[in-house]
Amino acid sequence: MTSSKRSQHSSRSGSSKDGKAANGKAASSWSVDEFDVAPEEGKTRFHDLDLHPTLMHGIAEIGFEYCSPIQAQILPHTLQGHDAIGKAQTGTGKTAAFLITIFDDLLKHPHEGERFLGEPRALVIAPTRELVMQIAADAEDLGKHTGLNTCTLIGGMDYQKQLNQLGREVVDLVVATPGRLIDFTGRRDLVLDQVEVLVLDEADRMLDMGFIPQVKRIVRQTPHKDYRQTLLFSATFTQDIINLSQQWTTDAITIEIEPDHVATDSVDQRIYLASSEERFRILVNLLRSDDASSVIVFANRRDQVRRLFERLRKASITCGMLSGEIAQAKRTKTLDQFKKGEISVLVATDVAGRGIHVDGVTHVVNYNLPEDPEDYVHRIGRTGRAGASGTSISFASEDDAFLLPDLEALLGEPVVCEHPPAELLSR
Ligand code: AMP
Repeated sequence: MTSSKRSQHSSRSGSSKDGKAANGKAASSWSVDEFDVAPEEGKTRFHDLDLHPTLMHGIAEIGFEYCSPIQAQILPHTLQGHDAIGKAQTGTGKTAAFLITIFDDLLKHPHEGERFLGEPRALVIAPTRELVMQIAADAEDLGKHTGLNTCTLIGGMDYQKQLNQLGREVVDLVVATPGRLIDFTGRRDLVLDQVEVLVLDEADRMLDMGFIPQVKRIVRQTPHKDYRQTLLFSATFTQDIINLSQQWTTDAITIEIEPDHVATDSVDQRIYLASSEERFRILVNLLRSDDASSVIVFANRRDQVRRLFERLRKASITCGMLSGEIAQAKRTKTLDQFKKGEISVLVATDVAGRGIHVDGVTHVVNYNLPEDPEDYVHRIGRTGRAGASGTSISFASEDDAFLLPDLEALLGEPVVCEHPPAELLSR
């Protein structure tokens, strides 16, 4: 945040670049010298950003060496306290970009005076439970040595448990879905007037899901935009998103990372012409092949996901299902099993699939083509992550081939449909 914004909440004098964690405990004896990354032309190292040492320690442990394009573009501004609007999808490294901004700010500008329970200094709002959990997991890793506390507030999980968590110690960062956040602020279990950094993640999805009225109420409870730093991320910039961004930010810089910079380069995209009847046989043959060791199958609707899951189980394929109709605890467990490799196939809807950040996914299958072409990019971005390559297989059947022109328009190149290889068609 700019110094005028910052002075409302925290002191600049206690700059704690001394290796002390935010909780006042001495940080471990780790030194940045142990994290050796050679400078490289055209790349930004985290070392070049003058980050707090305890934050560098977390970055070193995760193994990030150079900034991703969005990080290299946005961090020099956001670390100075400026507002930012990022057009970026998952897979670009945007989560680390905003978490590093938050942690560095909180660490270098410790709060003046007494802290109270339930008064976070930073707030991240995201549309789905899975996404919130993923952001919190990334925050745990990045912030591991900072002494800063993160708390997640999500619907579908025990309110009391989340309340207890808030009651145990002061919380620095809250990551939440809009509905549950409103529950907490409505009951005054959480107060947002100390929020210094506000992040709105996947703003377009929040808009699509009808959350904007709730988000507006939440934003109103935080300090005025001149006294907080606001970062807004969205995969698309519609007029609605632009209007909201202008309403919520001051002199924001805008960074755009185009979809073709996401995962598509590292994904071998195949579109198979197949009748709706043939699709299941092709899918089963694919899932039985050796190289399909970690596969996410997307379908457009919950009922389609459920039916596919049941058919696959009947075909003796062990799989898990992620959709809005599954209880949150079960979804968390299923995702965990998938991460650990205990199940190798997940069948998911778009909303549930958004939060799947698992490295090593070999294949993404679009059992139906998504109606919104942006979802196609999100889906295939579940594979080809973290430097690995992946394959996406989409079925263009009689029911959904009409969606191809829109997809071509988004990708900016023709999509090539092909007949599936014979081995996938065999009975
Ligand atoms: P996100 O766009 O936040 O979903 O991040 C996509 C993936 O990129 C996650 O698996 C991150 O752990 C990873 N990632 C983020 N930043 C970097 C970086 N600078 N270097 C390597 N991997 C990164």
